[in-house]
Amino acid sequence: MSEQIAEKIKLAGVVGAGGGGFPTHVKAQSQVDCILANGAECEPLIHKDVELMTHHAAGVLVGLRLMMQATGATRGIIGIKGKNSRTLQAFREVLAGSGIELLELGDFYPAGDEYELVQLAIGRLIPAGGIPLDVGCVVCNVETLFNVSKAVNGSPVTHKFVSVAGLVQEPKSFWVPIGTSYRDLLAFAGGATVQGFALLTSGVLMGGLSRNLDEVVTKTCAGLIVLPGDHYLISRKTRSSGEMNRIGKSACDQCTACTEFCPRYLLGYDIQPHKVMRSLGFTASGAEYWNNYATYCCSCGLCTLYACPEDLFPREACEQAKNTMREDGKSYRQTKAPKLHSMKNYRRIPTKSLLRRLRIGKYERETPFVEGFPDPAEISIPLQQHIGKPAIPVVQPGETVKIGDLLAELPKDSLGARIHAPLAGQIAAVADDHIRIIATP
Ligand code: SF4
Ligand code: SF4
Repeated sequence: MSEQIAEKIKLAGVVGAGGGGFPTHVKAQSQVDCILANGAECEPLIHKDVELMTHHAAGVLVGLRLMMQATGATRGIIGIKGKNSRTLQAFREVLAGSGIELLELGDFYPAGDEYELVQLAIGRLIPAGGIPLDVGCVVCNVETLFNVSKAVNGSPVTHKFVSVAGLVQEPKSFWVPIGTSYRDLLAFAGGATVQGFALLTSGVLMGGLSRNLDEVVTKTCAGLIVLPGDHYLISRKTRSSGEMNRIGKSACDQCTACTEFCPRYLLGYDIQPHKVMRSLGFTASGAEYWNNYATYCCSCGLCTLYACPEDLFPREACEQAKNTMREDGKSYRQTKAPKLHSMKNYRRIPTKSLLRRLRIGKYERETPFVEGFPDPAEISIPLQQHIGKPAIPVVQPGETVKIGDLLAELPKDSLGARIHAPLAGQIAAVADDHIRIIATP
């Protein structure tokens, strides 16, 4: 039975919908004690998980139970922030007598980091560089679990739940066919209310920046945040790496605030961004020693966007250091077991402080769930929306497809995910990296 569940999840192309994109059938094949549903949603402004959980609590619970069945887990926990009272109430109703535990989380960033969540939920610290599986746990985003519940009934992943937030006429959350353009998303939210806007995709801290409305929704996209093009955050995110390095090299005074607030450092991992900043001063040799201290960075962005009083870029220095180590074939391993820092519980960053520091408090609004997203005239579906190898097209231009038909297959014996048609129509193009469908009129 557990193998059948994993197989159905694989056939339906379910991947981590919280941004990770890891194929869920692989997680379903493991043997663990506990399945942890991640409903922390800690990125500011985006509220799609809260809306999904409030309106689909029963489906999330079914997905959680299926993952417990598949993995042999005896414990199921759902992590939700205490401030989301409507969502908690929705779960209290469906969880009654189920034996599944509800974990109320504080309103801080990054409550949804896997390492953080596992420690809070089961009191275990994942070994340095490890994954939740190392401590007998699988963590799944709540939308992923909802998709698992549908997969087992034979419905593949064709739509994504997203929020459109910030400076738009009507901020909202909704289901949208995968492959839909950002242009169509914005139009459904009534359009931007500011000229010369910029888009943050999937999050303020960990998300990307886009000015291209032709980009499309994937299986990992959390939505769009519209901000003025000249907003503080946009200017922070548009610096070139050369500029970041030059400014960092001359202005970092080694105050250590980036390290002292780093959530992974506070959990007891050997990540020290202030030391990584030292590497910027070594152009010929010497940088490699300081690069080691970037190994356990999870790119949460707190050091760059919250902690550094000089507005420098320690997160980006860590990412650069990790890339350099990868290219040079170098690695670093913490030998001591991680141990919680004595200040861990006192240095959590409340979302309110984050909103203030990032100058986005005035854009914080609800994004209520609405139905009725109109079918787009055409969509473009990337073949790589997940961790692993790109999917291999099984359709030809000119063919007609229905919603849910298979478009691209998992490469044989490889990590990856299948891709299905999110729209009924005709295949207009099959390229190396995407498939385009034009809707049937
Ligand atoms: S917080 Fe900023 S100034 Fe202080 S050590 Fe880190 S990067 Fe340098
Ligand atoms: S981005 Fe900064 S704060 Fe976050 S884990 Fe990396 S070093 Fe720590």
